[in-house]
Amino acid sequence: MAATLPGVIPGPGSQWGGPERDYKEDPLPLLFMVPRRLLLLILDGISDRPCPELSGRTPLQAAATPNLDLLAREGICGIMDTIAPGIRPGSDTAHLALLGYPPERYYTGRGPLEAEGCGIRMEPGMIGFRANFATVDAGGRVTDRRAGRIHDTGPLCDAIERGVDLSRHRVTFRFRPGAGHRAALALKGEGLSASVSSNDPKREGVVPPDIRACTAEAGDARTAAACNDFLRQARGILDTHPLNRARRDGGLPPANVVLIRGAGTMGRFEPFSDRTGLSGAVISAASLITGIGTAVGLRPVAVEGMTGSTDTNLDGKVRAAMAELDRTGFVLLNIKGADEAGHDGKAREKAAFLEQIDRALAPLLSLPDTLIAVCADHSTPCAVKDHSADPVPVVIRGEGVRVDAVERFDELSCAAGGLHRIRGADLMPILLDLMNRAHKYGA
Ligand code: ZN
Ligand code: ZN
Repeated sequence: MAATLPGVIPGPGSQWGGPERDYKEDPLPLLFMVPRRLLLLILDGISDRPCPELSGRTPLQAAATPNLDLLAREGICGIMDTIAPGIRPGSDTAHLALLGYPPERYYTGRGPLEAEGCGIRMEPGMIGFRANFATVDAGGRVTDRRAGRIHDTGPLCDAIERGVDLSRHRVTFRFRPGAGHRAALALKGEGLSASVSSNDPKREGVVPPDIRACTAEAGDARTAAACNDFLRQARGILDTHPLNRARRDGGLPPANVVLIRGAGTMGRFEPFSDRTGLSGAVISAASLITGIGTAVGLRPVAVEGMTGSTDTNLDGKVRAAMAELDRTGFVLLNIKGADEAGHDGKAREKAAFLEQIDRALAPLLSLPDTLIAVCADHSTPCAVKDHSADPVPVVIRGEGVRVDAVERFDELSCAAGGLHRIRGADLMPILLDLMNRAHKYGA
């Protein structure tokens, strides 16, 4: 038999001296079918703790979810610590882990990923910030941290990109709008650093502080100076912008200041397709998740009416996922609304939205040749109103999985399943193995 290179599984011809195949392009043909496509459906924050309003059940236990239950019956279930037991995951670190990029190695802060998600092509070494528009009064004090929940801030961002000049700092920048009052700032230049403070006072009635260097390193001071210059120039442009004049005339708070936070240095991400042989797409209303997807080379797919809330276009997202799976090997579909209900502490709303999600998932059940994995990125218990470290339920359904006895998709039922308790970083290797795309470790 021909020698096998690392990462290369010989094709059928190799035993007879024929060409070897790269496993990435074509998995080893087998006598049984392996799914060729993978759908990773992340239901953001769906898992929970017992809720008094639901008679001590979790929203997943209380909701009628026949489609998720069918997946549980036909698949293998388990529970998962998306980072590690006792670690409260952020959505960003959890999604990195679930995609197979351990956050302890790849996570460099939220800013650069948020900037990616706002459509800025972040190169390794660029500094990214989360930003939002806010309102300050004549004395410079913040009166509204969301500028009256302004949206459609594209013209303001365009004016800032055109008008602000940071060349004296030898820095170039991008400033793009995000959802609602949000935006993202990215800086590019030699020797910049992400060790700088924020100018977001996090409350109203105070003047936003200057950006400060966090250490005595020269790069910190240079970055802080460029940021302060950016913020000063942006403020001048916003003050006189016609859109803000119209807002003042209409009695609305003007978006006359930019607040930035979450500085991070963009890292280097090996493309998902190089690692797995699967090119793919990301469908998410949350720019942070879209940014994680594009950072690893997934194509962002926009869906009309997707909001990241419980009023999102669920059917549209499911249709888009199915259309993508027709032409690509992998889709990451994130549905956010249940997380929001958890942050608001609304257990009944959360359960009701889970039922809506479940109904929308029906068309996915009959997808041929597809491995489907459904999980949460973390728990968002209504009692905590934030993420918790409680493990999340996970189900994998498709050709070749060892079907266990679990009949319901919820936190407790899945704990009795055949996957037992895994970590987020285990999920992608398990899925790739089921698709016959895993490397053999050893001989
Ligand atoms: Zn999340
Ligand atoms: Zn959350």
